[in-house]
Amino acid sequence: MRLTVDGVALEVPPGTTVLEAARSAGLWVPTLCFDDRLAPFGACRVCLVGVEGARGPVASCTTHCREGMVVHTQDALAGRIARNVVELVLSELPAPPAAHTELAQVAARLGLDATGGPAAQRWAGAVHEQSHDHRHPYLAFQHELCISCGRCVRACDEVQGAFALTATGRGFHANVTAGLGHGFAESSCVSCGACADTCPTDAITERFLVELEETR
Ligand code: SF4
Repeated sequence: MRLTVDGVALEVPPGTTVLEAARSAGLWVPTLCFDDRLAPFGACRVCLVGVEGARGPVASCTTHCREGMVVHTQDALAGRIARNVVELVLSELPAPPAAHTELAQVAARLGLDATGGPAAQRWAGAVHEQSHDHRHPYLAFQHELCISCGRCVRACDEVQGAFALTATGRGFHANVTAGLGHGFAESSCVSCGACADTCPTDAITERFLVELEETR
């Protein structure tokens, strides 16, 4: 199957997504809910690209390549939507994401100010209240940093098969809980760490790191 991405001619096997094709050509496409260890989810709308003949930008992680497709990863409308989405995500956080997190790095690559400057003020409004859960012996939940990408829930289901995490709430109140709200002690968590490993914001991370930060 042949297509071009940003003018680069590619030949890919059937079933290849546009995101996979772009990355195989060394092109960067921003993502937040995507993890190549997990089934594509298509929720964050940050990986949008332009496709000639399409009515608008498409999510590259869930769109399969077609013969003769012409893809533009630098499509102006796709880029504008991605930047707005990431700015809105940032605007709901009570503090800028740590520099090492995937969210901070995606924001930087998109040319956004993730430090609470003018971009955050442009979308000024309610921010998540701090809510920490330290009931797990090794992991900490920092619920206020959850951006509802669903990666932890899917990692727990698809990688570990533990089904310990559940997405909860809607819109601004969307979040994740362990053990149907009774915490990790009541859940089927086996402490594999897959959720922390995939989290793009440190909403789930190693407990000792959070406790270390809290003592500073
Ligand atoms: S550490 Fe527990 S909650 Fe996280 S992915 Fe593994 S089993 Fe699921």
